[in-house]
Amino acid sequence: MTDHCVFCGNKHLSAKTTRYLHQQDGEMLIVEEVPCLECDFCGEQYFDIGVLKRIESDHLEIAEHRRQPQRYVRVAVESFGGADRAP
Ligand SMILES: [Zn+2]
Repeated sequence: MTDHCVFCGNKHLSAKTTRYLHQQDGEMLIVEEVPCLECDFCGEQYFDIGVLKRIESDHLEIAEHRRQPQRYVRVAVESFGGADRAP
């Protein structure tokens, strides 16, 4: 993990938890309360490689039905410039 923000150079990063959206082969997994370091200035978030590896393997287990997620949510998808949108 980094001790300063690589985007803005700020040296104050705070330990927080956040919601992480992981995408893999067109499937999405939302993981709540993922530990991260957040830049106090620009809000950029940094994750430990071990945390990301665990999310990746959890997602694989869920995708292969070896594990049940805690819950499912309905997700609506649309394109910002969708063709059926009124001009
Ligand atoms: Zn920053």
